[in-house]
Amino acid sequence: SKSSGRGRYHLFSGDLHVDFQRRTNLERAMRGALSNNEFYLAYQPKVSVADQRLVGIEALLRWQSAEFGMVGPDEFIPLAEETGFIVQLGLWVMNEAFREFSEARLHFDPDLRLSINLSPRQIQHSDLENDIRDALMTYDVPGKNLELEITETFIIRDRAQCEAFMRSMSRVGVGFSLDDFGTGYSNLASLKNLPLTTLKIDKTFVSDIELDQDDRTLVNTVIQLGHNLGLIVIAEGVETSGQHSFLHQAGCDEYQGYLFSPAVRMADLIESYGKKVAH
Ligand code: C2E
Ligand code: CA
Ligand code: CA
Ligand code: CA
Repeated sequence: SKSSGRGRYHLFSGDLHVDFQRRTNLERAMRGALSNNEFYLAYQPKVSVADQRLVGIEALLRWQSAEFGMVGPDEFIPLAEETGFIVQLGLWVMNEAFREFSEARLHFDPDLRLSINLSPRQIQHSDLENDIRDALMTYDVPGKNLELEITETFIIRDRAQCEAFMRSMSRVGVGFSLDDFGTGYSNLASLKNLPLTTLKIDKTFVSDIELDQDDRTLVNTVIQLGHNLGLIVIAEGVETSGQHSFLHQAGCDEYQGYLFSPAVRMADLIESYGKKVAH
């Protein structure tokens, strides 16, 4: 009826108002959050599917806001991207990840990869390449230990610039993982000639593989595709042993997910998986 329609409208506009207020306040708070030390990194293990050996860690940004409590990256990263703050924040992430990684490295296999997420905006900031080279040098981390996670949006934004950046980075051994594969454009032609090293199957495809034949087919196809292109294939969001068995049988190389571990602080990572070393 008309009146219930109006009621819904009022509710909806009320929510929009609350959303807008929150966004505005978050935006403001975010700018102060860097100097207030409210950001920190958590690291999620990447393990081999076959023997659950630790092969890498992905740095994931966390914001413990004095004003809002924990704010999830799915909420504040898009905001930071829209406002351009991600350029400054992304640089902080990189330096913090390198700093913690360089201190922790002696506890782990020397081949352990550090993965860092990049936003499209960061590449338009022309210093990205130099910032990464600086960080590699400052923290004495070999290029082959670094992997940058990018999305199709990142590639499509400015193809020529992106390709040049990737080629230059890959010459010093830096790897590139295509994140969220299958969720975006999925224009296979756009992946041609890019120096990718890893294909990451998005968690939305992993979550239903026990139930949905189409998702199983899709995941199998992506694994074949990745392998045909000479890439490592990693699945994210693995939560059950059923999903793990399927991925094992499908020949997937690595996985991330709550089944093994959520993202944790570096000290916990060392505690749980690091080898004891003399100080
Ligand atoms: P992403 O890069 O696709 O990261 C995977 C997300 O899945 C992470 O969420 C991770 O905590 C979560 N996850 C891991 N295992 C499981 C699982 O078994 N089940 C489920 N349901 N989820 C799982 P998180 O940490 O909330 O990050 C969300 C997104 O925020 C990331 O998605 C990434 O796009 C962005 N993000 C996080 N940190 C950074 C950063 O430093 N820079 C940039 N540019 N983006 C970041
Ligand atoms: Ca990622
Ligand atoms: Ca993803
Ligand atoms: Ca994502």
